Amino acid sequence: MCYFSRIWSVLYPIFVNRIMGRITQIQSMSLHDGPGIRTTVFTKGCNMRCAWCHNPETWSSKLQIQFLKNKCIDCKACYPSATTSDFTPSLLVRPNQYSISESITIAESCYTGALEVVGKDVYVDELLKTIEKDREFFDESGGGITISGGEPLLQAEFVIEVFKKCKQKGIHTAIESNLHSNSEIVKKVAEYTDLFMVDIKLWDSEKHKKWTGLGNELVLENIKLLNVLGKKLMIRTPVVPGVNDNVEELSSIAKFVNELDCLETYELLPYHSLGNGKYIALGMENEITKFDQISKSHFDYLQDEMALLCKKFKKN
Ligand code: SF4
Repeated sequence: MCYFSRIWSVLYPIFVNRIMGRITQIQSMSLHDGPGIRTTVFTKGCNMRCAWCHNPETWSSKLQIQFLKNKCIDCKACYPSATTSDFTPSLLVRPNQYSISESITIAESCYTGALEVVGKDVYVDELLKTIEKDREFFDESGGGITISGGEPLLQAEFVIEVFKKCKQKGIHTAIESNLHSNSEIVKKVAEYTDLFMVDIKLWDSEKHKKWTGLGNELVLENIKLLNVLGKKLMIRTPVVPGVNDNVEELSSIAKFVNELDCLETYELLPYHSLGNGKYIALGMENEITKFDQISKSHFDYLQDEMALLCKKFKKN
């Protein structure tokens, strides 16, 4: 590297406003997070606590350690020498005598992947370089970038900056949000967002609060706001046994979405319990809520009923 390049690499972050976001994962070649082939970025931190959530690693905005017991070969390479006698790797997933920076150092010494740091901070310009690697797939498939979570609007400045840059480069932008956010933030993000993917989890706000920790009034208001702004909307309802797996609950949602001019699709998503292992790896066993699996026949029945009630229903 020449002298001027070296100087520039030092000065660049000072001159350029480098905005950073905290994420858990970047997933390339995704086919389920919007139209076409997409790169999906999962942000860390969420304001809801849905009892059926299969991404509990995105709840806390803090860095965490996860321990995957099945990958541990008990080699003791991660054991801090001074405390070897009372140390076990599983200690790191709960608040303990180690600070997060000590825990990260210990986790990074594990070479089998049993201990892993969950969460990392990325600069917008670094993320853009990663996103652009899949540019030709976006162009050929009608895809783009999706920012999911967690709740991306908790890091609105980061989202706006990423989307602004994507729009300058002609990349399609989509966000998966719970929309429980200040309407001014929603409007600012909407300026650079082509598609909003939003859940209406329950129609009754009291039940919504019971199962997610927050009522749904703000969510519904923001959906109406986006509709007035002319933003494309894909709305989904995760169907969870014992929570909302009945036509009465779902038909109220279908009536609401039928009134939205900008609705692209409304769909039902079947509950699955695949995230339970993540709760255990993160030391969050106490937060697991057990639900029955939804049977295929009952899910098909609900889809058939919603297809009759909702003009833009998309069957899964
Ligand atoms: S280094 Fe990894 S595999 Fe070895 S004991 Fe620690 S957690 Fe287990």
